[in-house]
Amino acid sequence: SAGQVLAQRREFLNPGIITYYKHPIMIVQGKMQWLWDDAGKRYLDALGGIVTVSVGHCHPHVVAAAHQQNELLQHATTLYLHPNIGEFAEKLASTLPGDLKVCYFVNSGSEANDLALLMARLYTGNYDVIALRNAYHGGNAAGMGLTANSNWKFNVPHSFGVHHAQTPYSYRGVFGYDDPDAGRKYADDVKQVIDYATSGKIAAFIAESMQGVGGFVEFPAGYLQHAYGHARAAGGVCIADEVQTGFGRTGTNFWGFQNHGVVPDIVTMAKGIGNGAPLAAVVTTPKIAAMLTQKTHFNTFGGNPVVCAIGTAVLDVIAREKTQQNCLELGRHLLAGLNKLKEKHALIGDVRGQGLMVGLEFVKDRQTKEPAKEACQQVVENCRELGLLVGKGGLWGQTIRMAPPMNITKADADFILAVLDEAIGAAA
Ligand code: PMP
Repeated sequence: SAGQVLAQRREFLNPGIITYYKHPIMIVQGKMQWLWDDAGKRYLDALGGIVTVSVGHCHPHVVAAAHQQNELLQHATTLYLHPNIGEFAEKLASTLPGDLKVCYFVNSGSEANDLALLMARLYTGNYDVIALRNAYHGGNAAGMGLTANSNWKFNVPHSFGVHHAQTPYSYRGVFGYDDPDAGRKYADDVKQVIDYATSGKIAAFIAESMQGVGGFVEFPAGYLQHAYGHARAAGGVCIADEVQTGFGRTGTNFWGFQNHGVVPDIVTMAKGIGNGAPLAAVVTTPKIAAMLTQKTHFNTFGGNPVVCAIGTAVLDVIAREKTQQNCLELGRHLLAGLNKLKEKHALIGDVRGQGLMVGLEFVKDRQTKEPAKEACQQVVENCRELGLLVGKGGLWGQTIRMAPPMNITKADADFILAVLDEAIGAAA
């Protein structure tokens, strides 16, 4: 029972485990966009795990691929060849532009970013790294060092040499949505940080294409182009953290960075790549990868036969079910609906996102933009009562995040809008 698991959790599990809900939900089954709790109540999973269940819980094609591989071979180690790691790497590389084709498989987004930093430092011979405030890049030493969000900072030393530049956060930042030159102006801070805080030579600039944990913060046009320009002028490589934004979720392009007209040197990915399986990757160019042959990169589980079979199946489903197109169409539909809700509910300060990665930022007052943390929490609880699971984000937990499986239907999107309307109305 839920009570029993709660008691076990109190005694035997990490006491810091996060749950959004006053009464944690015990999930016992999942099927595509639906989850069921132990009382048989059904929820629409509008957060998709945490932006992870890309093609639906227990998608039949993914389940079959995993099952088949589980019976054939579960583990090989990188000491031996096995067929599906090659097939998966080639397929994954085909989704990326330019020279981005050499794949390193690891088990989580944090590990991917850790490896990306190592690559950048070995390749450039430089040490300093520029990341952005309000970013989340992981929970290991490298990831915490890169993350500039006080909810995830602990009073222990993080990796040295990371400097944080201003977040291009149009809603709250100094250059607003009405400034057509905001992208260039925000990127100037990358140059300032390089000039003031480093020797002038850096290893890397790293950014998400849209900040995920930070509350689905989109960057103004031109921002990444200018930031990449400053980073490269200082000898750095550019790392795109596509852990949340990849695999067509933003609708317009397969990769989030493509929405900004840039081509990174290193791409890190996790979450959606495995639809919930522990699979992540770093993809880079042959030139950068060549630096790593001098130092062995070893990872016991990375690219194991089962997750490679799952990753291949996920890519097949994405192509077969045209999920990127679905993200584009339903994303527009959701944004239009959310903007209507904004006219009705004063609590909503900002509506933003792309594709099936959309957010609502709540404020107590549209003028002062004071974050409405408690109201946001109440909306999350109300949604749960109404059978909808949504996420939270932002520094103060003031932003509702939605990133459902990419193959939800228009009826699902309409259900999300109707529930939010009621849930926000009841919280105001
Ligand atoms: N990068 C981004 C953008 C993320 O959102 C996350 C996880 N929330 C990570 C990296 C770290 O991934 P993981 O939890 O798999 O280590």
